[in-house]
Amino acid sequence: MDKQTENKKLIEQYPFLLHQHNLSGTYSTGFESTVLDDMPVGWRAAFGEDLCKEIIAELVRNNCVDSYQVLQIKEKYGELRWYSQGGTERIHREIVPKYEKMSRRICIQCGQPATLVTKSWVAPWCNACAEQFPCSKHVDSDAFYGSTDGEGEFSLPYLKWPPTAKVSGSFSRIHRTEAWKSVGV
Ligand SMILES: [Zn+2]
Repeated sequence: MDKQTENKKLIEQYPFLLHQHNLSGTYSTGFESTVLDDMPVGWRAAFGEDLCKEIIAELVRNNCVDSYQVLQIKEKYGELRWYSQGGTERIHREIVPKYEKMSRRICIQCGQPATLVTKSWVAPWCNACAEQFPCSKHVDSDAFYGSTDGEGEFSLPYLKWPPTAKVSGSFSRIHRTEAWKSVGV
């Protein structure tokens, strides 16, 4: 399937992925790209479509598919940022934040479990990808986020990885600025 056909199919399934031009208020007419193209490749491979599926299910359940729009997807401070408007409160308070937190522990490059965090440009990496980019400096993920004092457990058993590569762990309450100081970022 070529890229345009693939994008058309994506937008039919998840209309909120259509690129919106905010300044003019008009919508993209072609299918050259979708908002999902702005998501780092590792995260997209790991959970991009799972996030879209949860959102569309929520929108359909509440009969408000047309009310929801994704404005921007990007990485910031090593985490996914998924800026959107409309839809339901649950999307903004539960569904999106859940994936934003998960993203900290998933390699931004390949979607495997992340074990390292790059310094300066804060981003999660797995050992294999970090080896391919030896110029970037890394610190241990647990040192960065804390390993035990979490605010919630998470696991991703549904990812299409080898079954042994299950991501699990906990989220830290550590203040981010303090965390950076502790690892010398
Ligand atoms: Zn990787």
